[in-house]
Amino acid sequence: MKAIKSCVNKECNSYIHKMKYKDEYVYCPFCGEKLFYVCADCWMPLDHSTEKFCPDCQKKRTDKKEENQQKMMDKSVKAAKAVGTVAAVVGGVVKNGKDIIKIVKK
Ligand SMILES: [Zn+2]
Ligand SMILES: [Zn+2]
Repeated sequence: MKAIKSCVNKECNSYIHKMKYKDEYVYCPFCGEKLFYVCADCWMPLDHSTEKFCPDCQKKRTDKKEENQQKMMDKSVKAAKAVGTVAAVVGGVVKNGKDIIKIVKK
């Protein structure tokens, strides 16, 4: 993913409104400062233009993704456990039912 180019002058409208510029732009049309490739998340200047996020935000995003995956796993485990409980209960009922039949036969 490619980085976003923008102005990093905090006083500048481009920065405040998080305006994005095309690669052809070298200087900010508002304040005249040099444009930088910035992180799409924290808007910090990047030293490269190939990644959309800075290493910190990239890491945060991967962590979040893993966390979500973990949550999904937990959910499915819980769901499986819940199903197991239901099956156990049903099994118990059937067993008791058989016992009742036995009692009735006697
Ligand atoms: Zn500017
Ligand atoms: Zn960042």
